[in-house]
Amino acid sequence: MTVRLYNTMSRSVEDFVPIKDGEAGLYCCGPTVYNYAHIGNLRTYIFEDLLHRTLEMAGYKVRHIMNITDVGHLTGDGDDGEDKMSKSARESGRSVWDIAKFYTDAFFRDEADLNIIRPDVVCRATDHIQSMIGIIRRLEEGGHTYISGGNVYFSIDTIDDYGKLARLNLDELKEGARIEVDSNKRNPKDFVLWFTNSKFKDQVMVWPSPWGVGYPGWHIECSAMSSEYLGEHFDIHCGGIDAIPVHHTNEIAQSEAAFGHKPWVNYWCHGEFLLNDRGKMSKSDGGFLTLSVLKDRGYDPLDYRYFCLTGHYRSQLKFSFESLDQARSARETLARRVAQFKASGEAAQQLSAKAQGYLDAFRQSMANDLKAPQALAVLWQAVRDQEILDAEKLSLVLSMDSILGLSLDRIAPAGAGDAEIPAEALQLLEERKSAKAARDWARADAIRDQLAAMGFKVLDTGAGAKLERL
Ligand code: AMP
Ligand code: ZN
Repeated sequence: MTVRLYNTMSRSVEDFVPIKDGEAGLYCCGPTVYNYAHIGNLRTYIFEDLLHRTLEMAGYKVRHIMNITDVGHLTGDGDDGEDKMSKSARESGRSVWDIAKFYTDAFFRDEADLNIIRPDVVCRATDHIQSMIGIIRRLEEGGHTYISGGNVYFSIDTIDDYGKLARLNLDELKEGARIEVDSNKRNPKDFVLWFTNSKFKDQVMVWPSPWGVGYPGWHIECSAMSSEYLGEHFDIHCGGIDAIPVHHTNEIAQSEAAFGHKPWVNYWCHGEFLLNDRGKMSKSDGGFLTLSVLKDRGYDPLDYRYFCLTGHYRSQLKFSFESLDQARSARETLARRVAQFKASGEAAQQLSAKAQGYLDAFRQSMANDLKAPQALAVLWQAVRDQEILDAEKLSLVLSMDSILGLSLDRIAPAGAGDAEIPAEALQLLEERKSAKAARDWARADAIRDQLAAMGFKVLDTGAGAKLERL
């Protein structure tokens, strides 16, 4: 099966042709661990997980690498501002190392809750300083760098195609040079490879280097870690769209200059933003939501995963609790149907032509630039089809779920007594769900007592709340 992907470099959907037969090297820019990931960040990692699973579905052996940025990411993308980690440490009174560990652990809890497959390699910037220094030396030998004000800069005028990913118009950018803050730069788009001269004297994370004690710029870490684990030319590089104009643009400039391989990466795939009422959800916007907040409000993390599947990764997706409620309701209905299919027997070993048609259509939708909303529609069509057997439906949804990642394999078969639960009790169960979503714990508890009086116990399961006879 051919996987087709939108390549930001060509602005078109292309057939994926791997460098090595049957293998796919995938590098994804990971989190900067100075704060919790918000659900917008997590949308990007869910998209990358869908890509990973789809490549596997198509038969590729995927090698997925993700970095953890624990040094060098400044508050401003143009080398201005303060190191995000140092700022967070200063503000919280903890060490940068504590901060990094704390938020890295929190990030992987979120990833596990969202059923995101852990990348094959998760690597920290601070463990790869020597590789970064090695690449900067190669750039220096190739005449691509200069030292100014103590820092080592990459000179974009030493290459002839700077900005090709973002299709930057460099003449227009020169016009904007007046607002540039770093007077050490020869060209406003030059960027720092190594800082020895920090504006902030409390910079704790520093290393010796040929240019003096200091720390790396943000972009060099991704060139260093990707080449270490995937080689100096690899298949796919992912991130959010905000990485296109600066971070990925600079990664390409320095990597092609240092490694001499053009293109450095064959496919560039970017996820669009999650929006809230004010626009892009962002960490600097105090109103950002974390997965823990959703959990506290009674949602299963997989409700959020389902919600993300309802939008194509290249479209903006507007978050609201109403939409999340709809996703929850759809996911719970699906889980109930799966529980019923499981109660009627084993998954079919063989599929009828009609059932196979659904599976093929589902896979085609995902292989065609990860069209998850289309794939979900195929799933629902199959689930509602009266002409195929429950055993086939079970087999289908489990196969489809190897890509969707909604943990449908973990759903228990429906109990024999489920059909006999009176409508009144089910209605109360729905009301309790709404009460929990509204954080009206007193009401939720009162309903639980009422249900107990009717002879039912409430069980909170991965597939939503269920009733069991006492
Ligand atoms: P950060 O931890 O800030 O480096 O961001 C981690 C990832 O989340 C990056 O790939 C960003 O491009 C992405 N990202 C940031 N904000 C959003 C958003 N509102 N929606 C989707 N992805 C985002
Ligand atoms: Zn990166």
